[in-house]
Amino acid sequence: MVREPPHNVRFVTFGCKANQYDTQILRSALLRRGLEESRRDAELVVINTCTVTAEAGRKARQLVRRLARESPGCRIAVTGCLAESEPDILRSLPNVEWVLGNGEAKRPIHFLSELGFELDPEELGIPAGITEFVGHTRAFLKIQDGCDMACAFCIIPRVRGASRSRPAAELSAEVRRLLASGHREIVLCGIHIGHWGRDIDSNLGVLLEELAAVCGTDAEGREIDWRMRLSSIEATEVRGPVLEAMARHPRRIANHLHMPMQSGDDGVLSRMNRWYDSAEYLENCARIRENLDRPAFTADLLVGFPGEDERAFENTLEAVRRAGFARLHVFPFSPRPGTRASDPARLGGAVDPGSVRERRAALSELGSTLGREFRRSLGDLDETIVLEGSIGLCGRYQRVRVPAEAFADGELPLEGLWDCRLEAVETANGEIELIGLSRDEKKEPSVQ
Ligand code: SF4
Repeated sequence: MVREPPHNVRFVTFGCKANQYDTQILRSALLRRGLEESRRDAELVVINTCTVTAEAGRKARQLVRRLARESPGCRIAVTGCLAESEPDILRSLPNVEWVLGNGEAKRPIHFLSELGFELDPEELGIPAGITEFVGHTRAFLKIQDGCDMACAFCIIPRVRGASRSRPAAELSAEVRRLLASGHREIVLCGIHIGHWGRDIDSNLGVLLEELAAVCGTDAEGREIDWRMRLSSIEATEVRGPVLEAMARHPRRIANHLHMPMQSGDDGVLSRMNRWYDSAEYLENCARIRENLDRPAFTADLLVGFPGEDERAFENTLEAVRRAGFARLHVFPFSPRPGTRASDPARLGGAVDPGSVRERRAALSELGSTLGREFRRSLGDLDETIVLEGSIGLCGRYQRVRVPAEAFADGELPLEGLWDCRLEAVETANGEIELIGLSRDEKKEPSVQ
């Protein structure tokens, strides 16, 4: 029996920015066919999963069971990394009709026809990518997928494969579409963005230059002022052409780098199969600081990796202090089946849970202290912000509180890249006080 296509859909996304981008591809494909988004009692639920930790997989399976219990008639499609690593388990869950691998999710031709939609033959020629990022001021743009490395704790290369770069021309066209839709910050994301271009005889610096030259125009034909931001990138890959492009385009490329450190201890880094030691990481930070004006560094740290003793943890604290991060994301290690670190005994032994908790708290505390110091260092600084409601996000990835009175008509504009001057005053929420917009003192208006 052929079923009628669904009328409404709910999307749930777990995990990274690359996953959020992939969800957007599916969202565009379904909303274009007239489905409405609905959080309650949706006939179709699309769950984009993550498998980076065992916990992420457990949460996705739990969600499927709960949805099937609460809405027995709903049809569920599961995609994402868990769909690659555990397809059979997912297929056995109630109400799961589709398990879409990462390839199918990007070109959901079969999925759409199984849902009962007729496909325009020209559809097959539609350029990959999106035109808007629904519900977000900032748009994510996935520039590559996959990873060639083999970190001991990570299952991503197994489920996403080797690094594949999207062509620069396709990405430039997508940036133009996103600008035309009103987005003023484009976040370049992927799984290992520093490796963009390696498979097509190019490099990320070349792509940054090409994207920096993209000039969108608004409905009145005025040139759009916009910026891009690199999402997570390895410290060892911010050099040469990448760093030169950042230095050459300080307005177009946000002065912020999220560079996973994972550990500041050389023994732990080696067991993690990371390719740098703490000295090299810190040298990279120093070189970047020499080339950019007060850049913001943020990082991921993994605590409790097998064999991490007190001394190793002290080394991490010291390296983190020296790097001077503006924010830390601290994760406790948990063994992921299918990875080299799945058996902690082979890598120096598991760390007891109490120590992991204490170290996580100590590192988070240090991250808060460093964040405050960084924000104080930003006093009296010209910056650009993208507004998200009454909160702006500046290039250095700090939240800036923007009172409506800062604008001549007393109303917050909905979009735009605004010039402002930051004051080193911090609110209780860790936001920075905004003291002036260039609109009042210079051009009219500064939203371009
Ligand atoms: S660099 Fe390491 S942590 Fe990052 S995706 Fe590749 S294997 Fe995973």
